[in-house]
Amino acid sequence: MYSVGVDIGGTGVQAGVVNKDGKILFRKECFTNVDSGFERVMDDINNLVRDLLKENNLEIENIESIGFGVPSFINKKGLVTCVNLGWYEVDFMRALNNRFKESKVYAENDATVAAVAEAKFGSMKNKDIAVMYTLGTGVGGGIIINGKSITGAHGMGSEMGHTIIGENYFNCNCGNNGCLESFCSATAIIKHAQKLINEGNESIILDMVNGNVEQINAKMIFDAFRKNDEVAVLTINRFKSYLAKAMANMINILDPDVISIGGGVSRASDIILDGLEDLTRDYILYKKEEFANIVCATLGAHAGIIGAAFLR
Ligand SMILES: [Zn+2]
Repeated sequence: MYSVGVDIGGTGVQAGVVNKDGKILFRKECFTNVDSGFERVMDDINNLVRDLLKENNLEIENIESIGFGVPSFINKKGLVTCVNLGWYEVDFMRALNNRFKESKVYAENDATVAAVAEAKFGSMKNKDIAVMYTLGTGVGGGIIINGKSITGAHGMGSEMGHTIIGENYFNCNCGNNGCLESFCSATAIIKHAQKLINEGNESIILDMVNGNVEQINAKMIFDAFRKNDEVAVLTINRFKSYLAKAMANMINILDPDVISIGGGVSRASDIILDGLEDLTRDYILYKKEEFANIVCATLGAHAGIIGAAFLR
């Protein structure tokens, strides 16, 4: 029996039919027409799933479950607020149940969904206590204990991106100062490199964008790091120092078996993991003890579909 996983993002929606082994058999995507409003986007998602099934001669009645990952928090009443999608307390769970009456429907925050996939089939497989950080435009978190995702008593837990780990020179999108997201997201890395360059530091990154700092992306900074560019080295070292603090906080609280780093930033896994364990050890309480394996995620961009298909 198959399940369907749907990954809802600010620019696109991806849906996939997934088998018991976590393999995506068929996939289809559509554009997220944010301007059309919540109900229309939900209609598009409904059509996407039904077209995906029809094109592959599958009946919705034969699908075990349909799971959804959303880039936001879902409260206990099923309401979603997601600025990127222009959704303010929309009744997401009711909208799903209305459209998919024939199916069991589940939904979770997208970072939690990615952690479900990594725990079942990827970098956190067969681990009792597993924690995932998703480093992308923002920073998301997922906690899996004995195979179950933990989002807390009110559904708002595992938001490690907004744990406060220092004082920063700009505020986080959430309004607070010093959130992990403002140190360790792709956005934060770019902002810091731009700052150093704007302060007059020379960098080969500037050549990569023909002098336009607005064009800098995270990959360029990692590429420049490999060439020992000073701005890149300062930026990446700062990023890793704060990431190590976040990992140490997590180890002190939860003492997981494994911590996995996913999201777009984790593509530079060699640079991120190099020395990260020692940096983390400096900040944990019991420095002589064995602690969590720190690894990078292995399922890549498809973790969203796979994890959503395995929500229960
Ligand atoms: Zn924040």
